[in-house]
Amino acid sequence: MPHPARRARARERHRVINALCAAERACNTRGVQFTPIRRAAHETLLEIDRPIGAYDLIRELETKLDRKLSAPTVYRALDFLLEQKFVARIETKNAFIPCAHPDHEHTCVFFICESCGNSAEVENEKVDALFEQDAAALGFRIGKRVIEMQGMCATCQTAAGAAT
Ligand SMILES: [Zn+2]
Ligand SMILES: [Zn+2]
Repeated sequence: MPHPARRARARERHRVINALCAAERACNTRGVQFTPIRRAAHETLLEIDRPIGAYDLIRELETKLDRKLSAPTVYRALDFLLEQKFVARIETKNAFIPCAHPDHEHTCVFFICESCGNSAEVENEKVDALFEQDAAALGFRIGKRVIEMQGMCATCQTAAGAAT
């Protein structure tokens, strides 16, 4: 019987690999290149899985690839990931987070914990439908679809409850 921590790690790795495969498939369909640096940047964001700033991403990527990277190189990779909507930008935090469903158009709704910094993404068809309706009424073409909710995650609430 594998150790629970090891099982959790395996599950975690599985999540990252699945998302990378989905991104790879999307790139093939769209006829764009998933170059090694773009892939590595995406993989790093997936592994961290909470909003991080560009400088932190550069540092993490350098550690991962074990070499120095120029900021423009990383910014270009990031631009690509944003353009393909594999990654979303959390405007209020000037941070980046991978989208959980990179292969189709949707509104990314991020629930971000202000206490631990973790975030969860949900995709809600009802929300999408509402915005589509409003956009159609306005004759508006939606480009980027990111909604961020800030608050406290279940784990932190439990911890806060236990502390009082
Ligand atoms: Zn998303
Ligand atoms: Zn939390």
